[in-house]
Amino acid sequence: MGNYFQPEIETASREKIIEIQNEKIVKQVKHVYENVAYYRNLMDEKGVKPEDIKTIDDIKKLPFLSKADLRDAYPYGLLGTDLKDCVRIQSTSGTTGRRVVAFYTQKDIDLWEECCARAIVAAGGTNEDVCQVCYGYGLFTGGPGLNGGSHKVGCLTLPMSSGNTDRQIQFMMDLGSTIICCTPSYAAFIGESLKEKGYKPSDNKLKAGIFGAEPWTEEMRKQIEESLGIKAYDIYGLTETSGPGVSFECEEQTGMHINEDHFYAEIIDPETGEVLPDGEVGELVFTSLDKEAFPLLRYRTRDLCVLTRKPCSCGRTHVKMSKPKGRSDDMLIIRGVNVFPSQIETVLLNEGYAPNYLIKVGRENNTDTLDVDVELLPEQFSDKVSDIQAKEKALEGAMRTMLGIGPKIHLVPPKSIARSEGKAVRVIDTRKLHD
Ligand code: ADP
Ligand code: ZN
Repeated sequence: MGNYFQPEIETASREKIIEIQNEKIVKQVKHVYENVAYYRNLMDEKGVKPEDIKTIDDIKKLPFLSKADLRDAYPYGLLGTDLKDCVRIQSTSGTTGRRVVAFYTQKDIDLWEECCARAIVAAGGTNEDVCQVCYGYGLFTGGPGLNGGSHKVGCLTLPMSSGNTDRQIQFMMDLGSTIICCTPSYAAFIGESLKEKGYKPSDNKLKAGIFGAEPWTEEMRKQIEESLGIKAYDIYGLTETSGPGVSFECEEQTGMHINEDHFYAEIIDPETGEVLPDGEVGELVFTSLDKEAFPLLRYRTRDLCVLTRKPCSCGRTHVKMSKPKGRSDDMLIIRGVNVFPSQIETVLLNEGYAPNYLIKVGRENNTDTLDVDVELLPEQFSDKVSDIQAKEKALEGAMRTMLGIGPKIHLVPPKSIARSEGKAVRVIDTRKLHD
């Protein structure tokens, strides 16, 4: 049995959780209808009134919100309170287009930080820990969210932000960091840098890492755990719902518990909008049940995953989501075949390569092309062209088996692919430039 930050909520019975959700949704829909004209119009168009929402099940009657709505309503169109009641903004990374700006009241910040605190405690954090936060600070939610959570747990917090890896390592060693929070790609880079400096995994005091903000595979988890000598936990969130901490992994490491007292999750068919049962893959939709300033109802995340309510050995009762496979718009369609960057990463790590790669999609003579630059580890590097060619062929074969189509592999020298300190850019799709 694990430790909990808020045991009465995190291990509440299903009946209790539903009771909380029923109570909060009625209030929240009323709040949104009265204060957010943009959403009121959507409800009116659909012919739904706040009185129609009596329980959480009635949520199905409400209209969806999409990223396009958020862009339309930029910057103040979805604000649910007076601006004078807001104390902060944060903004998306703009990975897939124009940035979204989210607003927070002090209560919203507290709620968000509590969610992050639950994640830190689930990873074994206590007030005796030294928590090194190397997510970016600023508009990006990663740094501020985990920083706030770390304070709430009472850890000694190192607000490092991302980058300056030499300094990260120096502080980690000198101050004996026990928990590290960053993107998985940056964690892999820190592991690589520690090794280069001659440190063994047992030389640091780290015990856990809390990694999120981008998709990562189980293979990547294994690699990071070995290189840093830690247990690596996933954390998920998005600016639109507050930031990291919407869901987090417990010691079972089989999916992330969604903080259901604050965020109601649904899985829908992305084509039809129909709600799918637990266990089926679809697009994750979130309703924030008690946020004041930016209270999104039925927001379509475009993240694809599965929900499960099987009991968890940690004792938490909240629904679990699988690792998102990637966003629906991360999926590449190459010569008619669906390819996720995460599948390519799985093959690379299984074949003994490091997670340093760049996927390049293009079009030649009206046919899609798929090239993958893959970095060699120093010990894999060879001057013999025939050795390299044989390795490339072997990797192409393994990729074909996994993906159903064969990419062209280019093995490149160690250190030749740029490392990421935040969210990694893994794909360059030049087809979009021509469309
Ligand atoms: P942007 O959409 O510009 O990247 P955010 O910084 O708010 O803005 O990122 C939120 C998105 O990041 C999520 O919708 C999801 O696609 C991705 N993400 C966050 N955490 C994870 C995670 N643990 N695993 C996979 N993807 C994640
Ligand atoms: Zn659990």
